[in-house]
Amino acid sequence: MPLTLPQFTIKPHPHLRSDSERQQILAAPGFGRYMTDHMVTIRWTGEAGWHDAALGPYAPLTIDPAATGLHYGQSIFEGLKAYRQPDGTVALFRPEANARRFQASARRMAMPELPVELFMKACELLVSQDRCWVPDAAEHSLYLRPLMFATESTLSVRPSTEYLFLLMASPAGSYFPDGIRPLSVWIAEDYVRAAPGGTGAAKFAGNYAAAFLAQNDAAEHGCDQVVWLDAIERRWIEEVGAMNLFFVRGHGPAAEITTPALTGSLLPGITRDCILTLARDLGHPVSESRIGLEEWRTGAADGSITEVFACGTAAVITPVGRARTRTTAWQMADGRPGPLTLRLREELVAVQTGCAPDPHGWVHHP
Ligand code: PMP
Repeated sequence: MPLTLPQFTIKPHPHLRSDSERQQILAAPGFGRYMTDHMVTIRWTGEAGWHDAALGPYAPLTIDPAATGLHYGQSIFEGLKAYRQPDGTVALFRPEANARRFQASARRMAMPELPVELFMKACELLVSQDRCWVPDAAEHSLYLRPLMFATESTLSVRPSTEYLFLLMASPAGSYFPDGIRPLSVWIAEDYVRAAPGGTGAAKFAGNYAAAFLAQNDAAEHGCDQVVWLDAIERRWIEEVGAMNLFFVRGHGPAAEITTPALTGSLLPGITRDCILTLARDLGHPVSESRIGLEEWRTGAADGSITEVFACGTAAVITPVGRARTRTTAWQMADGRPGPLTLRLREELVAVQTGCAPDPHGWVHHP
């Protein structure tokens, strides 16, 4: 039986922020600091399914203190971007992939799956309504944050029977306002992010809370981000902070690129998928396999690993310049961004911003 999707009620904000206030924010948006004027809300209950879909003013929520999501953590999210195109229109980048990953996260956390069409419609409506919040500047974008958490009022330890889906948006500035700066990374030997059978492949709130202490460790050791190792053998590279990792071997057109395989304990990044595709399109051999910490360290030392970079929606592609453990430290080549890292970054940004052909149909016009 076809699923009937709820119709959206649209209630524009009666007091939009002024043009001058918005312009001031868009001149230096940073990341995640300012929300746009509107948000989308959709409710789910066991009896009614998805209902009460609305686009309305961005505003605080009223939540019952016994809402089970606050206690037992049924909470998942997504992150995707809308980019200003050369003709002034706005396009979303691969929203359907985010919709599908949101469904996969929901399944893992025993939450209801938001239909892809409803996720897409919510993104389209918010971007259309808050179009003036999409920055024009190069490398700037509108970051969309879908979120869903459990709202049933109960202290019972079981999946909630009520959920709230929210979509908000926040203008994002360049990740590198002063030019591309390679990351330094701290190998997390004391903490585990995700184990086989755990929640690592879901965009689940608890994964991020559990990573903060290791992130503090990284900062204490003068590093920008944490590299996570597998939970069992503690030697296979998984991912870095909220980004996937790529390793380049060799130089020039024959350079090979490898990324850790999706073992179930790392997030299947959408940028990761784009890079695998773009690198193949450029004729580079690509592989998804295991990469050991020791292999990274010796490969960097003997020059067989020529570049390492991280990738994710927020930063697109970020070179990794240095790595550290408690006992050792090593540098990638001369510590500067490598040529393939920069080339792939340029190619991907060009597709996102409508400055290059889109043979894979990644750019979605609302
Ligand atoms: N790993 C983790 C843990 C993340 O949170 C993210 C950001 N979503 C990524 C990788 C990169 O994923 P994407 O390219 O889809 O942003």
